[in-house]
Amino acid sequence: MNQNYKNISCKIDYHIHTMLCNHAQNGMEDYINKAVSAGFNEICFLDHLTISEPGNRLSMLLSEVSLYFQAVQRLKRIYKNTILIKAGLEVDYHPQYVEQIHNITDTFSFDVIGGSLHFPGGIDIVSNKSDWCKGEYNTDNIYRLYFEYIDKMLDDDYCDFICHIDLIKKFGRYSLESIEKELDIIIKKIAKKNLAVEVNTSGYSHPANNAYPSFDILKKCFEAGIEITIGSDAHDPADIGRNYEKVLPIIVSAGYKNVCVFTERKRSIVEIVTNNLGTHNESCPIIP
Ligand SMILES: [Zn+2]
Ligand SMILES: [Zn+2]
Repeated sequence: MNQNYKNISCKIDYHIHTMLCNHAQNGMEDYINKAVSAGFNEICFLDHLTISEPGNRLSMLLSEVSLYFQAVQRLKRIYKNTILIKAGLEVDYHPQYVEQIHNITDTFSFDVIGGSLHFPGGIDIVSNKSDWCKGEYNTDNIYRLYFEYIDKMLDDDYCDFICHIDLIKKFGRYSLESIEKELDIIIKKIAKKNLAVEVNTSGYSHPANNAYPSFDILKKCFEAGIEITIGSDAHDPADIGRNYEKVLPIIVSAGYKNVCVFTERKRSIVEIVTNNLGTHNESCPIIP
């Protein structure tokens, strides 16, 4: 399964946060400047919108969406000759607030909406201070709950791509039961709905020490005809493009020759250039 790679012809980072989410550092222009100096051609701000968060505020407020959208539009114009900037939102799935989510996505002409799940059933599976991180809960139950909610999120049709689809492995905790059947159903549904999946490189900075999704899931996505985009989930300008070189050979080894980009929620593809510069030899376990 080794495959050589060089770079992608259009270097993209489709997952960048801002200070509005209350847990990211520095100004938006600092992220842009880092992306430009790292040779990116296209980036997308994808800041958090979580309606009704349990615990501390980790998202912009609903009332701040307009300010955020305008700020990205302004930067798009300022940097138009330097780098392509897209406006996106990472919208947390919450079954009770689907109508409000649709109102927001109908009101503003975002380039892309990422769907994510940080709080399945109100349980925090992402924070370092969470009970999940501390080793509480039965892993089989939480995995089942997580993928049940991902499945529901797909039914509510509000996003263009799925962010960090196996984020549940963040703290290196794995289900003892196989969840392959549930995953296969989800992958089939993503393909049927013609949605994309994000390859999120932040997982290498977490205890999971692996991309989201893992290689085996990525391969299943490729086989199902699902397109991918790439994001670093930057919460600091230094995170822009993190682990990019690490993930490229994995993407290529899964079979991909293209990644996708978005403009006003329309998807297009850019090519991954393959050349003799590296090999994928990392073992990426599937979630058991
Ligand atoms: Zn996220
Ligand atoms: Zn994020």
